[in-house]
Amino acid sequence: MGEQQTEAVVLYEAVDGVATVTMSRPEYHNAQNSQMTYALDAALKRASDDDEVKVIVLRGAGKHFSAGHDIGTPGRDINKTFDRASLWYDHVGKPGGEFLYVREQEVYLGMCRRWRDLPKPTIAMVHGACVAGGLMLAWVCDLIIASDDAFFSDPVVRMGIPGVEYFAHPYELNPRIAKEFLFLGERMSAERAYQMGMVNRVVPREELEKETYGIASRIGKMPRMGLALTKQAVNHSEELMGKRSAMDAAFGWHHFAHVHNELISGDKLGGFDAKAMAQSQRSKEDEAK
Ligand code: ZN
Repeated sequence: MGEQQTEAVVLYEAVDGVATVTMSRPEYHNAQNSQMTYALDAALKRASDDDEVKVIVLRGAGKHFSAGHDIGTPGRDINKTFDRASLWYDHVGKPGGEFLYVREQEVYLGMCRRWRDLPKPTIAMVHGACVAGGLMLAWVCDLIIASDDAFFSDPVVRMGIPGVEYFAHPYELNPRIAKEFLFLGERMSAERAYQMGMVNRVVPREELEKETYGIASRIGKMPRMGLALTKQAVNHSEELMGKRSAMDAAFGWHHFAHVHNELISGDKLGGFDAKAMAQSQRSKEDEAK
């Protein structure tokens, strides 16, 4: 457990003012372990620091954008210490609910907020699965461009957990659709996500790159400071709509659920690993047929 992948888990490239950050654990559908989280943070910092970079594109290597948090690959590393991006202390070795609470303040809630506030425009280029923790990565981006085969889901209610740690659901979708999305845990197609206003464009898979980089290059012609201020203005408006405090409350409920799970089943995820989640998803889809 906790094997470090030796090749890069995040790739970085900057061409013509556009930085591309690629999640690269394709054999695990880019399941996000801590190694990848910190590599993403480093790549985004590098893009922010580079005066030549105007716009950032976040994408996934392989068949899918992201299968979510790593809950079962050989590279799962939740017991590992990393150089942290916040002043939260190390979660490793902490007792009871403190272990996960401290870890998730840093790597999920804290890191997502940090990325969302990066003062350059970011675009998530989504194909295939964008599930649970994967949603958080797409949602922190300013724009989402999806291919027509992309789908979105947050199935964690099945684990007794009220949505992923970065609880943006009622801001990304209207509240009634957010409830449906969570209660059923079903896949939302790119087309429906577009209709709901969660996605900016849906294009055929073969046109995804062209469309995304076309938009990136048009944004890149705008003045840097104008873009930064515009982003801050919109993000701040969301804060005034309560996003930050709503998310803080949801994070508390999320952690009550982790601890409750541990009390009744001995496992913070209610006994679900990646395989059990995939299995339950399949049987649910069979029922629906
Ligand atoms: Zn959690």
